Amino acid sequence: MKKFRKKIVAGNWKMNKSIAEAVDLAADIKRELAGNVDVDVVLCPPFTALKAVGDIITDTPIKLGAQNMHWETDGAYTGEISAAMLRDIYCHYVILGHSERRAGFHETDALVNRKVKAALAGNLAPIVCVGETLPERQAERQREVVGGQVRKSLAGLGEDLDRVIVAYEPVWAIGTGVNATAAQAQEMHAFIRETLAEMSTAETAAAMRIQYGGSMKPANAAELLAQPDVDGGLVGGASLEARSFVEIVRAAL
Ligand code: PEP
Repeated sequence: MKKFRKKIVAGNWKMNKSIAEAVDLAADIKRELAGNVDVDVVLCPPFTALKAVGDIITDTPIKLGAQNMHWETDGAYTGEISAAMLRDIYCHYVILGHSERRAGFHETDALVNRKVKAALAGNLAPIVCVGETLPERQAERQREVVGGQVRKSLAGLGEDLDRVIVAYEPVWAIGTGVNATAAQAQEMHAFIRETLAEMSTAETAAAMRIQYGGSMKPANAAELLAQPDVDGGLVGGASLEARSFVEIVRAAL
């Protein structure tokens, strides 16, 4: 059964933008997107700019997201931020298991799973990233790798599974300018949805949103977003400028 899924486009600003720059960018996006109600739009600035960006978008449908969080609720975890702290500044989303965190900060599927559970318990919607590396794709192991990441990162969520957004981000496409083709993206998104159905029910999987990420730009967004199982985008580089981000959002309309 095919369900209507509202598209969701999120901008991952990574470790970029001062507070003043972030406020300017958020204000430009807000002005350009005034009146849009058909796409969920999420801005994920660095921690330092979350509050200021949240204040800019507070009277709009645009939502705030963080780029990471800790799995515990509080305690002696120097340098970390909890789900409740993110809710405290009106975050609705949190990106978890981004490949840069998996590769650079040793985040395993088991650790991502703890964070996903903590995010859900803290009333945040997790955007959970999965994706194969170039050698894994060259060895045609993408299904094995991504299927394993989905099953392990999202294990044991029960009825809460459908509160998760999955982002398929082939690592070889992130920040490289080489995006997955629309056919490659559709094939992997359909596979992820099949995996989600095996973990729950066909109905749950049909309701879940799967974003594509990896060098999404205005020039390729419309074709990627037109694929039946591509329900939005997680955008890095092109989200750092209002014009390119807004064009991608419009391509999702
Ligand atoms: C990302 O880091 O999530 C991403 C998709 O980056 P880019 O759009 O720059 O490839």
